[in-house]
Amino acid sequence: MSTSELAAEHGDRIWEYAPAPESRDVVSIAPEYGLFVAGEFRPAADGRTFAPINPATEEPLAQVATAGPADVDAAVSAARTAYERVWGPMPGSERAKYLFRIARLLQERAREFAVLESLDNGKPIKESRDVDIPLAAAHFFYYAGWADKLEHAGLGPDPRPLGVAGQVIPWNFPLLMAAWKLAPALAAGNTCVLKPAETTPLTALLLAQVCQQAGLPPGVVNVLTGAGDAGAGLVAHPGVNKVAFTGSTEVGKEIARAVAGTGKKLTLELGGKAANIVFDDAPVEQAVEGIVNGIFFNQGHVCCAGSRLLVQESVADAVVERLQRRLATLRLGDPLDKNTDIGAINSREQLGKIEELTRVGEAEGAQRWSPACQLPEKGYWFPPTVFTGVSQSHRIAREEIFGPVLSVLTFRTPDEAVAKANNTPYGLSAGIWTDKGSRILWVAQRLRAGVVWANTYNRFDPASPFGGYQESGYGREGGRHGLAAYLDA
Ligand code: NDP
Repeated sequence: MSTSELAAEHGDRIWEYAPAPESRDVVSIAPEYGLFVAGEFRPAADGRTFAPINPATEEPLAQVATAGPADVDAAVSAARTAYERVWGPMPGSERAKYLFRIARLLQERAREFAVLESLDNGKPIKESRDVDIPLAAAHFFYYAGWADKLEHAGLGPDPRPLGVAGQVIPWNFPLLMAAWKLAPALAAGNTCVLKPAETTPLTALLLAQVCQQAGLPPGVVNVLTGAGDAGAGLVAHPGVNKVAFTGSTEVGKEIARAVAGTGKKLTLELGGKAANIVFDDAPVEQAVEGIVNGIFFNQGHVCCAGSRLLVQESVADAVVERLQRRLATLRLGDPLDKNTDIGAINSREQLGKIEELTRVGEAEGAQRWSPACQLPEKGYWFPPTVFTGVSQSHRIAREEIFGPVLSVLTFRTPDEAVAKANNTPYGLSAGIWTDKGSRILWVAQRLRAGVVWANTYNRFDPASPFGGYQESGYGREGGRHGLAAYLDA
């Protein structure tokens, strides 16, 4: 049945939207970008560059410097000098002023950041505009408030910074992950060397410009663009005191091995395979919105995505049918169009991984469904996809697909829901949908997940700690807990 037939049968209205493209003119992308070291942009020591592309059009966006070992040395050394001479000795009340300035500049230049993020990452403008950029600014505001109150954070009477932080971040929330890493580190008095992902370096470089604009002393924040070997060089560098990583579990394990025995403090925020649990007494319309937000937000490129829907058997058919009708209304296409719900997949490589795992899902016997939707000819796209008839042993129920793909499993009792939710090597997040507060508490206490949302999903706040169990990593980011990772307390 076509999307409009499905909708018509239920009296749903499929709205026709006129295009509403956001203007690209608010951002000027330079033809070339250097590394940001000691407060200045400079080419890589060996002159190498790479060209990130717009995943919605495959158009190259700029030439960006590729950091090599000499650049890692220079950035770590600049961060050390800034730590010893300026940032470490500076009173917290003064450090706070810089963080407040960065936060305000992010707000002032929010539209510029949002457009650049959507161009570089492929995410819909309404997400970069309404989620990524405001949350990034909120993190700087929040941690600015802590900079002169560290002794009141419950981490001891005189917590001290660690020194130089080496921070490696992924491509799914490029600016937001930079803010999650930089803001607490700087508030605590550390200096930073940040390595953004190869496919999405541009907003980190714009943030470096904002650091200049805010008058941040040279060397306090350094940005090394390049490939995974720059990240590996950074985390292994003897001049780094603290390593913070967000990305795949595989690379997280490599980093844990590289850091073991060095005395460096390490936090890892890795993958997930979250259960979004819907009980038979849940408000269905609200739960369906939560399921959609849980797995189709940011094309499912979300470590805490609700990628396993566990729905009580008695309502499973009704929930899946309602979900399919809702998915038929999602709009996929130009990330810069303000009406777009589903943007582009971040890279050809990631698209290949999603395609492979969905093929495996079919081969293992699950039933695949997507609404009728036209994929643009250029760029990397994948339609919202739902697998029903999934069992716990299927790879699509166990592995992180990191795309707009939902696996639906059923359960009969709360005990079974908890057992299935916890049957994963990960443990980052979970969702519970029910009318009963007592059931929320009962289930939440038994879930092995760092974050549990009740009757909502994918809610973030800088005051709220975030992190996982098991293969989802260790340490917490956000809130008071996020400071602990950057302090010797
Ligand atoms: P990676 O873990 O490889 O990348 C994350 C960051 O680490 C990037 O900046 C990357 O650089 C860098 N990096 C890569 N190798 C090393 C290394 N040996 N030492 C230090 N840093 C390194 O993720 P991918 O982009 O390859 O994605 C692969 C899969 O990981 C996805 O399909 C998804 O399942 C999962 N993922 C999970 C995320 C999460 O938040 N949980 C985020 C991103 C991915 P570069 O980009 O230059 O390679």
